Amino acid sequence: MAVEACEVRTTCPYCGVGCGVVASVAADGSVTVRGDSEHPANLGRLCSKGSALAETLALDDRLLHPSIDGQRVDWDTALDAVAAGLRSTIEQFGPESVALYVSGQLLTEDYYVANKLMKGCIGTANIDTNSRVCMSSSVAGHKRAFGSDTVPGRYEDLEEADLLVLVGSNLAWCHPVLYQRVLAARKRRGGLPRLVVIDPRRTASCDQADTHLALAPGSDSALFNGLLNHLHRHDRIDLDFLDAHTEGYLAALKSAREVAPSIPEVARRCGLDEQQVAEFYAEFTRTEKVVTVYSQGVNQSSFGTDKVNAIINCHLASGRIGKPGCGPFSVTGQPNAMGGREVGGLANQLAAHMDFAPSDVERVQRFWGSPVIATRPGLKAVDLFRAVGEGRVRAIWIMGTNPVVSLPDADAVRAALKNCPLVVVSDAVADTDTLRCAHIRLPAATWGEKDGTVTNSERCISRQRAFLDLPGEARPDWWIISEVARRLGFAELFPYASPAEIFREHAALSGFENTAWSDGSGSRRDFDISALVGLAGAAYDALAPFHWPRPAIGSGAERFFAAGGFFTGDRRARLLAIGARAPAHAPDEDFPLVLNTGRVRDHWHTLTRTAKSARLSAHIPEPYAEIHPRDAARLGIREDALVRVFSRWGEVIVRAKPSREQQPGSVFVPMHWGAPYATRGRVDAVVNPVTDPFSGQPESKHTPVRVLPWQPA
Ligand code: SF4
Repeated sequence: MAVEACEVRTTCPYCGVGCGVVASVAADGSVTVRGDSEHPANLGRLCSKGSALAETLALDDRLLHPSIDGQRVDWDTALDAVAAGLRSTIEQFGPESVALYVSGQLLTEDYYVANKLMKGCIGTANIDTNSRVCMSSSVAGHKRAFGSDTVPGRYEDLEEADLLVLVGSNLAWCHPVLYQRVLAARKRRGGLPRLVVIDPRRTASCDQADTHLALAPGSDSALFNGLLNHLHRHDRIDLDFLDAHTEGYLAALKSAREVAPSIPEVARRCGLDEQQVAEFYAEFTRTEKVVTVYSQGVNQSSFGTDKVNAIINCHLASGRIGKPGCGPFSVTGQPNAMGGREVGGLANQLAAHMDFAPSDVERVQRFWGSPVIATRPGLKAVDLFRAVGEGRVRAIWIMGTNPVVSLPDADAVRAALKNCPLVVVSDAVADTDTLRCAHIRLPAATWGEKDGTVTNSERCISRQRAFLDLPGEARPDWWIISEVARRLGFAELFPYASPAEIFREHAALSGFENTAWSDGSGSRRDFDISALVGLAGAAYDALAPFHWPRPAIGSGAERFFAAGGFFTGDRRARLLAIGARAPAHAPDEDFPLVLNTGRVRDHWHTLTRTAKSARLSAHIPEPYAEIHPRDAARLGIREDALVRVFSRWGEVIVRAKPSREQQPGSVFVPMHWGAPYATRGRVDAVVNPVTDPFSGQPESKHTPVRVLPWQPA
C-alpha cells in the first residue's frame, strides 16, 4: 500500500518527562524517530526507550478485532454487549456495582470522557487509575500543603539549583532525559547542582552523585523531620514567609522535635552515620537554591503522604519554594498521569481539580447537564479490586493497563476478575494476564495511531499526533467510551467527533465560573485560563507545548507560590505535623527480608511495548532478585540460580543477582514481567496490599519476604 511520507511532531508515550518526538514516515512505510529540538522538556534529547520507539510498532502482537468470550464480533455487537452488561448490572445492583480502571497511558481526552461517563452519567466515582500506584501520595501531599494538586516547579529549576536532592527517585533510569539535563548543567556550571541521592539502594543515579545516603527503608520522614528541626536550630527558617503565607509551623516543629530530636537519633532511625546526616543537613541549610525531587520511593508507602509533607515542610519553612532553582518537585511515572489529575480522573476527585464539595457537585452537574452525578469519592485502586473480589463491584471495564501484573496481591486481583460477572478490557495488545480474564475485549489504538494531549511532570501540555493508520478495527479510547455512553442513553452528552472537541469542553469546564482547583471554599483562583480555552479548532491542531496552569495575567507572578497565594481557603499553605511511622509489616522470623520493587532502565510497565525491541530487551532480558552477597551466601544462593521470593501473599521465581548495591536484609525485584513474557509468576503477587490512608497508594517498596533456592518439584 502506498504511504504518504510525512513528519509529525508528537510526544513520547513512556515516562512523565514527556519528551517531544519527531516521527518521520518514509514512502515505503518505514518509521524513524528523533528528539524534537523545539520541545522544552528534552530539547532534542531522547533516552534509550524513546529512541527505540520505531522498533515497537509491529502489529504481530496487536489486538485488532473486538471479541466476546473469545469469539470475534463486530464493533456494534461488542459495544451493545458492554452497554447491556453495564445497564443490567446498574439496574440490579446500583451504580456503585460498576467500575472503570483506567491508565496514565490514556490521553487527556480519553480520561475526560471516561470520567464524565462514570461520575456525570452513571453517578458513581468508581473510576480509578493505575496512576494511583505511581504518584497519588504526592497528589494528597500537595492538596494538604497547598490546597490544590499543584507542582510548583519546572524542569529548569533542577538545572538552576545549587543542590539537587533525589529522594526515592532513580532519575537516571526512570526519568533519563531529565537526569541528562542535570548532568549537562553540572558540566556547564562546574559541578552545580551538587547531587545528593537518598535511597536504600545504590542505584544508577548514585554513579554521578556527590553523596549517597543509603537510609533504612521507610525512614525518609524521620530524616526530613530532623532536617526541619535542624533548619530551626540554625536559624534558617524564613519567618517572614511563614508569617505571611503559612499555617502550622509550630505544630510541625513540635512533632519534628519529638520524632527526630537530634542528629544521633536521626542517624539511629535512618541507619546512617551521624556524620553523613550532619553533612547533608549542613549542605541543605547553607545552600540557598535547593530542589528536592521525589517519586515512587517516597510515594509507594503506607505513609507516603506524610513523607511528601515532611519534604514540603522543609521547603515551606525555609521559603525555598516558587523561586528559580527552589522547591519540592514530584516527578510522575507515566506520560499522562498529570493529564488524568487535571480532568479529575481519580476516584477521590470529581472533575477539573474539584473534589466533592456540594457547590462543586452542583456546578459540574450544571455544566455537564448530567442526569445524575457522583456526590462522594469512589473506590481507590486496591480497594476497588478488593470490592470486585467481594462481589460488591460486579462489572469492571479496564483500559490500557494490566492490574493482574501491576497491583499488589496480584493473585487476589486475578482471582477477583475470574469471578467477576463482567470484565471488559480495552487494550492495544492481544495477550496480557488481565486480558486473559476478560469476557469482552476491545481493540484500542495506541501511540502513533491516535490524537490528543498529554501533560508531563512540569505541567507542560503537548500533543500526541497520529502518523499511522488505525490497524485492523482498533479505535481510539475516547471513541469507544463515547459509543458506549450513547448506547446507555447519553448521546446528547457525548456528541464528540474529534479529540479537539473534547479538549475544548475540558478547557471550558476548567474555566467554568472560575472554579477549577476549587476547594469548595469559594476562594478566588489566580490562574490564566485563556491559554487553555483558546485551544479550539486549528489552534488545537497546531498546539505547541505550553505550561498550564499559569498564574493569572496581571498577577505579577511568574510562578506559583513565590509570594504565597496558595489555593487554600485563606490562601495560606499548611505545614503538617508528621509523626513517627513505620511500614505496615515489619520483617520477622518467617519473612526476614524486605522486598522492594521498581523499574529497570529499558523496560516500561508490563513490557507490552518495550519487549518488542530486541535492543531494549537485551539490557535486562529477564526478571531477577538483587540481594546482598552476604545474605545470598547465608541462604546458599548462587549467582544466576533460580530463587523463590515469597511472602504471606504470594510468590515469584526469578534468577538471583547478588549485588553490593543492595543493603543487607533487603531484596529488589523489578516489576515488569508477566504473561506472555514470564512463566514463573509476577512479583506483585508477593507485594502486600497495604495502602496509605490519605492517598490509597500501596506500599510497593516494603513487603517482608523469604528467599530460598528454588528446587524443581
Ligand atoms: Fe520518553 Fe521518558 Fe525517555 Fe523522554 S525520558 S524519551 S519521555 S522515556
